[in-house]
Amino acid sequence: MKILTVVGARPQFIKAAVVSLAIADAPGLTEHLLHTGQHYDERMSDIFFSEMGIPEPTYRLNVGGSSHGAMTGQMLAEIEQVLQKESYDCLLVYGDTNSTLAGALAAVKLHVPVAHVEAGLRSFNKAMPEEINRILTDHVSTTLFCPTDIAVENLSNEGLTGDHIHQVGDVMYDAAIRFGAHPSVARAAILNDVGVSPGEYMLATIHRAENTDDPTRLENILNALNWAAERVAVVLPLHPRTVSKLPSDFQPHINLKIIEPVGYLDMLALERNAKAIATDSGGVQKEAYFQRVSCVTFRDQTEWVELVETGWNRLASPSVSEQLVAGIESALNEKGCDVPLYGGGDAAQKIARILAN
Ligand code: UDP
Repeated sequence: MKILTVVGARPQFIKAAVVSLAIADAPGLTEHLLHTGQHYDERMSDIFFSEMGIPEPTYRLNVGGSSHGAMTGQMLAEIEQVLQKESYDCLLVYGDTNSTLAGALAAVKLHVPVAHVEAGLRSFNKAMPEEINRILTDHVSTTLFCPTDIAVENLSNEGLTGDHIHQVGDVMYDAAIRFGAHPSVARAAILNDVGVSPGEYMLATIHRAENTDDPTRLENILNALNWAAERVAVVLPLHPRTVSKLPSDFQPHINLKIIEPVGYLDMLALERNAKAIATDSGGVQKEAYFQRVSCVTFRDQTEWVELVETGWNRLASPSVSEQLVAGIESALNEKGCDVPLYGGGDAAQKIARILAN
């Protein structure tokens, strides 16, 4: 079976890294990678391919940096051309980006079966571009790989049931285990580079459009990080979208260390050694739990509700400054309960096995 995998954004490179390895090991499966170019520079793209040994993409589009509609439309047209030129038995997509939706739509219209990894996640907030991408992708997919029982339940509530739905666990947990064993994660040289000590800093990431594109929410978040930096060092590897939206008069506290985005191995080291994590990222919420570090999520909803239920995560609305401060305090001082949530670290193998069958 010949698979075309469509990736384009940072979290997809990380997910594809483990699944591509499992596909390479599975008899009867061949994979070609298509990189849409949604994330394109050294720190948001290339470093993941080199560090994680992801195969060189067979196809590289150059569709980054435009509006949602223009980007999705251009990807759709160009992926369709690839699918018309070469025949594939399956198109594999990850998560909830414009690349996910464009790949799924291009394939389904040409009757190429679509497999969706990270199916069934819902924030129930349709103002998020990611929510639209996930719902539409799930509804045109032939095979749905869910990370949790709750994701399976969400699909069932939308009328999607049957033996094409598989609860396989979370491929990001596989990635955290596999790459967490890399010696450079244990060395954690990045802590020295940034000037922080294990257990004595909070790691933060901010990049969701709902936060970066709303000046009040962004200002509240930046103020909350400055408040935190008065108490504990804060390391903030900053996404290019957030950099482009930083108010010109923003004065980071001396203890708020804004750095460029880091590679996955450095990120794992920063997560593992953090006292707490503050984020609006989907992936980072889970990685905090993988490392058993408490997290506060600067959002109004989360797709990963089990993290809140088990006490590893708490939500803090960026519209309400007091919630941000209380959330940070709670994450710095409270831990969750130790229950397994995301499978056995073999989600990628299960996906490859199911695809091969
Ligand atoms: N990540 C990284 N370097 C960074 C920030 C994040 O490698 O500077 C990783 C992080 O460990 C996680 C993934 O990127 O695996 C999350 O991606 P992102 O937050 O961009 O997207 P989301 O998960 O919210 O869709």
